[in-house]
Amino acid sequence: MKINSFLRRMFVKPKAYFLTHEAIVRIAKEAKGKGIRYLPLHYVGVANADTSGEAITRYHKNTLGWKADGYHLFLNHDGIIEELEPIGTRANGCRASGRSWWNRWSKFPSNEEYIGIKALHICFETIVGYKMSSTQERLLLELFRELIRQIPNILIGGHREFPDYENWNKRQNTLCPGFSVSDWLKDAGILKSNCFYEVWKP
Ligand SMILES: [Zn+2]
Repeated sequence: MKINSFLRRMFVKPKAYFLTHEAIVRIAKEAKGKGIRYLPLHYVGVANADTSGEAITRYHKNTLGWKADGYHLFLNHDGIIEELEPIGTRANGCRASGRSWWNRWSKFPSNEEYIGIKALHICFETIVGYKMSSTQERLLLELFRELIRQIPNILIGGHREFPDYENWNKRQNTLCPGFSVSDWLKDAGILKSNCFYEVWKP
């Protein structure tokens, strides 16, 4: 590891700000520019986590030694978003739960298309048990609607709804993010054609 990237990893804090409408439009435009086609949603995986993206990214990179964090964006319970990795770069959000990357010698097809650089991995802080706050829910739906406006064919889903060719059920072997994102989106009036689970059938 180069000393510069090591120091950056140790000391640079993720950029954090309230997810305003302006910020939402800017993120959606950037996602469009970077060729984003998929949005896997994650949770922290600990009830009442009361943590931060900064703590999460430290854990992933310094303790676990990951090259990149699991998520591009981390949404705190109060609506503060933290930028953990640049959009359009590889994050490791689905890596813990099955085969992620294409290998030449693998007999399994790749799921790189769905969880690689075309994916925008977002994680929310759990605040009431494993659930998100009403602020997080409102802001995420607003972000999703703006993303759909900018990228009409984007597919949004929960981590567990994304494919893993090694598992018997062809889905990632995880509970994350703890609820059916597809049902939630449909209830919120988002078209089935933007729900990953409805479109992608193994
Ligand atoms: Zn996840």
